[in-house]
Amino acid sequence: MAPATQISAPTAARPSGNVDDGQSRAVPSTDSDVEPSCSPGQEHQPDTDVTVALSRLIRPTKTEIASARRKLHLKAATIGVVAVSSYSMLVIAPVGVAWRVVSAVVLVFAVIAIATGVMHDANHGAFSRSKRINRMAGYTLDLLGGSSWLWRIKHNTLHHANTNVVGLDTDIDQAPFARMAPQQQWRPWHRYQHIYVWFLYGIMTLRWFLIGDFIALARNRVGTQTLPDNGRGHHVVALFAGKAVHLGLAIIIPLALHPWWAAFYLAITWSVGVLLAVMFQLAHCVEQAAFVTSNDHVRGQHFADHQLRTTLDVQCRVPGVRRVVQFMMGGLDFQIEHHLAPGMPHTIYPQLARRVRAECDALGLPYQCHHSLTAALRSHARWLEHMGTPPSPEASVL
Ligand SMILES: [Zn+2]
Repeated sequence: MAPATQISAPTAARPSGNVDDGQSRAVPSTDSDVEPSCSPGQEHQPDTDVTVALSRLIRPTKTEIASARRKLHLKAATIGVVAVSSYSMLVIAPVGVAWRVVSAVVLVFAVIAIATGVMHDANHGAFSRSKRINRMAGYTLDLLGGSSWLWRIKHNTLHHANTNVVGLDTDIDQAPFARMAPQQQWRPWHRYQHIYVWFLYGIMTLRWFLIGDFIALARNRVGTQTLPDNGRGHHVVALFAGKAVHLGLAIIIPLALHPWWAAFYLAITWSVGVLLAVMFQLAHCVEQAAFVTSNDHVRGQHFADHQLRTTLDVQCRVPGVRRVVQFMMGGLDFQIEHHLAPGMPHTIYPQLARRVRAECDALGLPYQCHHSLTAALRSHARWLEHMGTPPSPEASVL
């Protein structure tokens, strides 16, 4: 069977403001010339052209991709039915409090599944072969209050092309509230971040949806990336239309029907925010992941090596629970495979993982996994506590 695709490996920096909406891209380098560093106990692999080697060895066939997409579309339809049903039961149906609470819980899980299993794939161009269908499915983020346009810049361009690069990857930039990387400035309140950050995760998502997107528009940038002029008018209209629809569906209509809605809205959005943030953080913001301060060895021939050092998978070995975890996390439990091939539907990652692990073993490359969901959570919590500890003077000199 003919190979169908390759690992996504950005090869060169692109000028600021020249991004588009496709796959992960490189962004301009910083002025820093600090060499990449590894976490303690982690060996830095030699600079072999592992990106090309892995690309050749693990790529799926067209048939495998088509089969994975069929699974993904069935999953998306199921999630859509559950989301509409739970929203209707929560907001419209004449039911008692107990049913409304149950519906709210189901809606939280449906929204998370939309984000991890539909929106994320679609905005990577992985949901369908059709660019238009990907764009339409990507708008689910606008329906949920975000902006698919700004997400593609923040997530595809800044995060995927600069994973755990301090100063470029906005996923690890929560300053001044939290310190996620050793190279970031420590503040006295970070001593307690392992306690309060869980609450902030929910608030941060809400802030991003309600305020952050407008700040990005006003500043004409997301992180270090200037917003592109290409199609800007259309994207801005879509952003405002999405916010208006979200406002109507999530606040105005329910509030007109139920005076108690504010409490439900805050509980639902906070729950979605904290669960989504944690799912994304488990792959990169943990003890075993490397954090670097230069993007010199991040792309091109270094791409796969960098992704393997900064990204972890999450395994779940409990039968039954594993299926639920995989369903809810979309591809976020197979982040190694996702970062190597973000253009693939996430439903192919379990298959791809076996090949990636085997080839990493054969090539002597790191393939890092959390051995359970609780191990991943504990590692994230310990990392937050470690980053909250005042750095020693020796560390600041280094
Ligand atoms: Zn992604």
